[in-house]
Amino acid sequence: MSVPFVDLALQYAALRSEIDDAVAGVLRHSRFIGGEEVRAFEAEFAAFVGTEHVVGCANGTDAIEILLEALGVGSGDEVLVPALTWISTSEAVSRVGATPVFVDVDRHGTIDVDVLGDALTSRTKAVIPVHLYGHPADMDGVMAFAKEHGLLVLEDCAQAHGARWRERPVGTFGDAASFSFYPGKNLGAFGDAGCMVTWSEEVATRARRIANHGQLGRKHDHAVEGRNSRLDTLQAAVLRVKLRRLDAWNQARRAHAAAYTGLLEGTGVAPLGERPGAESVYHLFVVLGPDRDALREHMTAQEIGAGVHYPRALPDLECYASRSVPREAYRQATRIASNGLSLPMFPELTRAQIEEVVRVIRDHDV
Ligand SMILES: *Cc1c(COP(=O)(O)O)cnc(C)c1O
Repeated sequence: MSVPFVDLALQYAALRSEIDDAVAGVLRHSRFIGGEEVRAFEAEFAAFVGTEHVVGCANGTDAIEILLEALGVGSGDEVLVPALTWISTSEAVSRVGATPVFVDVDRHGTIDVDVLGDALTSRTKAVIPVHLYGHPADMDGVMAFAKEHGLLVLEDCAQAHGARWRERPVGTFGDAASFSFYPGKNLGAFGDAGCMVTWSEEVATRARRIANHGQLGRKHDHAVEGRNSRLDTLQAAVLRVKLRRLDAWNQARRAHAAAYTGLLEGTGVAPLGERPGAESVYHLFVVLGPDRDALREHMTAQEIGAGVHYPRALPDLECYASRSVPREAYRQATRIASNGLSLPMFPELTRAQIEEVVRVIRDHDV
């Protein structure tokens, strides 16, 4: 039995008539930018997250960048980011002219609140906790630290739609939050898409203006220079259909994680696990094991999908080589980058497939 790492076609097949109708509706009215679908999706996603304002944009990377600008982060500022994440998080910081400062992660892969203080300087302006792999960062620790030092908090929720920290959804803790709807994310569009979330009307207004060439409401009224980063109407129509399933899909992911965790006991391979208070939505199911690369090859040979997220900690990327971050400052990030393996994880995964994945892992152990 082969088990894919993800299977997006399966999800489309299950929703085909609804999605086809939604797409056809947009094609028929042919208003491809903005309009009712975008407005409705923004309202529905706000209800899902439990926040006030949602502003659609072109992708999750733009969402971080635009929010940083809307929050007033820029040249001369330092922003604390985890040493292990997809590059978008730090890239967006550099793009607004600020400097990303890398902070190690804890054993769950999210920013280590115990070492935040080591990275603090008089120029630190903000912190971006990333709810990596769908697992919420320790938001008690992050918010307390931010409050004590007067820092802005931008949550990177690209992998964590619907995840909760102490019963409260991620994206509702900080000054603002970014989401990605990249196809493989827990809520995925049929192309690139993203959104920005905030409690602040002022931040939402600024973000909406930046994302639409500085215009707000009336066309040709350019109060400021902005850029073009809008949520496509077609993507909004697709996302509306999928959003209605997101809770059920996240529950299925959690059930798969529990099944994996039980079955993996006694193998040399262990899940990162959940911190007490965290309710992960398992965008990825990451295990640590010895000889990760050999295990991955063995799985690939047996037609079991597996991935590495991410093979290098950010300070080890070529683009940050000149920063010369001392190795001991991101030990845990390096440990996960060197030993972490992402097992197949998607809502439609079956019990038989999970058992097969674990069988193949055991087969490598012995
Ligand atoms: C996917 C992702 C992003 C950015 O999303 P895009 O929509 O691909 O631009 C940002 N941060 C993290 C942690 C991500 O996984």
